[in-house]
Amino acid sequence: MIGRGAVGAKVTVNDSPVLVADSGLFAFGFEYDQKTPASVVAFFRDGTREEHGVQPLSRSYEVQRINGLPEAFVSPPPDIQKRIDRENAMIADARKRDTAGLGFAEPFDWPVNGIVSGLFGSQRILNGEPKAPHFGVDIAALEGTPIHAPADGTIVLAEPDFYLTGGTTVVDHGHGVFTTYIHQSALKAAIGQSVKRGDLIGLVGKKGRATGPHLHWGMNWFQMKLDPSLSTRTPLPSKA
Ligand SMILES: [Zn+2]
Repeated sequence: MIGRGAVGAKVTVNDSPVLVADSGLFAFGFEYDQKTPASVVAFFRDGTREEHGVQPLSRSYEVQRINGLPEAFVSPPPDIQKRIDRENAMIADARKRDTAGLGFAEPFDWPVNGIVSGLFGSQRILNGEPKAPHFGVDIAALEGTPIHAPADGTIVLAEPDFYLTGGTTVVDHGHGVFTTYIHQSALKAAIGQSVKRGDLIGLVGKKGRATGPHLHWGMNWFQMKLDPSLSTRTPLPSKA
């Protein structure tokens, strides 16, 4: 969600202050299964306040069965699990920043030309074992297909070879909004680099836990997992 308050107003979401741009714009999100409204309160310069309860729409998610994954990816041994935990902590750390970039407020572009092969929120059953829902959109494309920044931002994580996620990039679009690019065969933008909408950031691959070349595209508001397909200015390409 993108909100706009009066210029100079302070804003809280669920009682926590959020960063408000000079224009009054701010961002917040909903958990994928959230049923309760978000409480958004604006505190104006004249001492008055205004509260809005923003009610999420309910939606249902599909069940997705994926078989034939190597067992070490589905139920990793303890030493591998330590590595996965360390890498997940690095990704979580990258999403703690609260910066003033304004890329978040633009409608996003799809980062890859391809075929959507996995939707956000699907219940995953991997080799017959129920797992966490799928918190991203999968876009199948040939290995080496370019991945472009969907909006302006800064690269805050660029790791070529994580265990589950392969080549992994996180882009900070400001105000807690981040996008994540997983399974890349090669990275084309370095940590700390500013990117503009449309800039090349990496190449599609199948590194990590993947059955074929695709981009797993994630979006977050801080650690909250969002559906990036709700951010784009053009609708979802047709599903495979
Ligand atoms: Zn995925």
